[in-house]
Amino acid sequence: MKPRPLTPTLSPNEKTIGGEGVRLGLLERLAAAQSERARQALLRRLRTVEAVDGAHIQIAGKQLLNFASNDYLGLAQHPALREALAKAVARWGVGASAAHLLGGHRDEHAKLEDALARWTGRERALLFSTGYMANLGVLSALLGAEDLCVQDKLNHASLLDGARLAGCVLKRYVHADVASAARQLDTHPSAPALLASDGVFSMDGDVAPLAELAALCRAQRATLMVDDAHGLGVLGPEGAGSVAEAKLSQDDAPILMATLGKALGVAGAFVAGSATLIDGLVQNARSFIYTTALPPSLAAATSAAIEIARFEGWRRDRLTRLIAHFRSGAAERGIALLASRTPIQPVSIGDSAAALAVSAQLEEAGLYVPAIRPPTVPAGQARLRVALSALHAESDVERLLDALADCLP
Ligand SMILES: *Cc1c(COP(=O)(O)O)cnc(C)c1O
Repeated sequence: MKPRPLTPTLSPNEKTIGGEGVRLGLLERLAAAQSERARQALLRRLRTVEAVDGAHIQIAGKQLLNFASNDYLGLAQHPALREALAKAVARWGVGASAAHLLGGHRDEHAKLEDALARWTGRERALLFSTGYMANLGVLSALLGAEDLCVQDKLNHASLLDGARLAGCVLKRYVHADVASAARQLDTHPSAPALLASDGVFSMDGDVAPLAELAALCRAQRATLMVDDAHGLGVLGPEGAGSVAEAKLSQDDAPILMATLGKALGVAGAFVAGSATLIDGLVQNARSFIYTTALPPSLAAATSAAIEIARFEGWRRDRLTRLIAHFRSGAAERGIALLASRTPIQPVSIGDSAAALAVSAQLEEAGLYVPAIRPPTVPAGQARLRVALSALHAESDVERLLDALADCLP
């Protein structure tokens, strides 16, 4: 049986809205789609975390070693962030009370934008409330119906949704394949074009060929946008990200977006680039204009996080050691990993039900390693997404390796 799409496209015989027949209830359709998902082992399940302590979380009363966190540097519970947040709350209260353009933009936001611009080597930076909103805002502000957007097939959902919202021509290229990207640009050689790529791919952990993509964009007069949600804090000198690691200037990579909720341990996102870009976004990015500013306390906590992320290089060194340990230990035990040098170290499984079963077994053994299944990853490529953090000890990695060796089919 073919799964019924949740939002079916209109087929020719359905285009008479309100035609004959009994109208199908939207929630009935939703329920039918749910059962179909469950049948295919694709149902998503919300788990409630009852406590967090370093690399440990508690779910359903059980202590688990957490390998699912994007808190790569171990900053989300850091005392300096808590203190900066508490001080800012004492000064400002809790909410920003308004959108940035209508009195919500506090000096904590302005200071954070300056710090982000300095760190990433860009002229200016602009805060957004989430990474999802930043990507929607940038793409819909820059691209119109006649424009071309070329994207890696494995880009984050928010980049794809941004292109859909913009209504531009969207062409996707084979993952990390620069020749394929060039062919997609060639399909519309005279249309203004944006090439967007994740810096570090969120479900695979590999790094985009950024220098080659930048060269292609220069040759084709396309604008390069990099979403560095998983690279900022982790890669490059002082953790300035994948773009800094590839030594790409503001001219090479004119649009840099990254989030504040991953390695920085807080929440929110920013776009960095030229004054022209930032001023244009302030005028046109609807997800910036029509939403409440981040709480100023979160901006203050993020400024504190940047200091630690930049200057406590031992956190990155420790991550590097843990990654090497995990990869060599996996090779010794015959565990298949994807090619990744970042803290995202997925274990290939393939079948969704099998991935769920292994994840459940690991949980029995006290380890939280969720299964990632379609449509988050392509069909037949279900996996366990192992995320390492400076909070882990070598012995935690050893425990994970032994448990994986026991549980994998
Ligand atoms: C997490 C993520 C986002 C979304 O960021 P949020 O702040 O969580 O909304 C965007 N792009 C990539 C690559 C991500 O991993």
